[in-house]
Amino acid sequence: MQYHIITYGCQMNKSDSERIASVIEKYGLSPAPKKENADLIIINACSVRQSAMDRIYGQIRYLKLKNKKIKIFLTGCLLAKDKEKLRNKTDLIFKIKNLLKLSNFLNQKLKKQISDDYFQISPKYQNKFSAYIPIMTGCNNFCSYCVVPYVRGREYCRSPKKIIKEIKNLIKNGCKQIILLGQNVNSYKSKGVNFPKLLKMINDLKGDFWLAFFTSHPKDLSDELIKTMAKSKKINPYLHLPIQSGDNQILKKMNRKHTAENYENLIKKIRRKIPQIAISTDIIIGFPGETKNQFQNTAELMEKIKFDMAYLNKYSPRQQTAAFKLKDDVSQKEKKRRWAVLNEILKKTALENNQKLIGKTIEVLAEKNNFGRGFNFKDVQFKGDKKLIGKFVKIKITQANPWSLKGELI
Ligand code: SF4
Repeated sequence: MQYHIITYGCQMNKSDSERIASVIEKYGLSPAPKKENADLIIINACSVRQSAMDRIYGQIRYLKLKNKKIKIFLTGCLLAKDKEKLRNKTDLIFKIKNLLKLSNFLNQKLKKQISDDYFQISPKYQNKFSAYIPIMTGCNNFCSYCVVPYVRGREYCRSPKKIIKEIKNLIKNGCKQIILLGQNVNSYKSKGVNFPKLLKMINDLKGDFWLAFFTSHPKDLSDELIKTMAKSKKINPYLHLPIQSGDNQILKKMNRKHTAENYENLIKKIRRKIPQIAISTDIIIGFPGETKNQFQNTAELMEKIKFDMAYLNKYSPRQQTAAFKLKDDVSQKEKKRRWAVLNEILKKTALENNQKLIGKTIEVLAEKNNFGRGFNFKDVQFKGDKKLIGKFVKIKITQANPWSLKGELI
């Protein structure tokens, strides 16, 4: 029996899919070369944006048309309304926490033992040199537009001992890039260990590896964390720090619990301590009631901060959230226009930041024979060699565009 997993959404879902693959294979299933050839499709869904859900409906229609016998299981971050709509279009909907109960539906005998603790399931990592490690799941923040607290529940943190054990094992097996995951890693706390302390514990492990993390909330990003990042030689000088809007009234309606000024001051402080840092963000365009002036505040803040990258999302109402009760009154046409304005600003600032790296030599983790990720998390293209995949290489940067760098191996 062959399976195929289709993953939507964030890195947390990608990491969950690695655990799903591991469990499925312990039942003797093997990966299908193409989704159309699979006997079982597992869709790891994301209800965060309507566009992702629309793609899932289309995907299911397509797969059922291609193969009438195909079985489709659905999991992931799903709102109750989306689950209801998809119930009779799929063979099974299960919560990721119930992954171990899949045995009841697979009609296959277990070939290898599986841990009964979800986070103790050893994932089937996508590659040997880079690994996602969930350190926590869920969120207590209830930003008014976000479904995460409803679909993933409240914050749950893994014990530092178990995280360290997983990472030690990865490093021993040649892993070079550790990426810690959580909806709000800054609020990690378990057995008296907070997030900066956890980073320090990992940083102190022996081995040649880099350490990154997603995602941070500006209200919880402490001086202790900045200090830890600045002191470490292993933590990537890269921070993904969602701002969502540059207007204080909109931030209040979003229940973000920080202001545009707090955010700007935080960025200044981080850049003072870690001058080489690359910063990316998330922005929601056309939140209910966002006026042209309020949008302009976001555009001006983006100009000032000069992000290296920004994920620009047009607002779409999600049931169960507080913002669902507000009128989605910015037209699609206007959202598109605002998106284009912000994208132009981003292109300009990202290019300016990247151009500063021309002539410099940076360390890159080669992911393909002609591509890798720099220590600052920027995409770097170069002429390499298959033998270098999974190794650190030094690249002299010769060209820059907004979204990537080009360079020569030295
Ligand atoms: S911090 Fe806000 S946006 Fe992020 S997961 Fe939690 S509720 Fe959602």
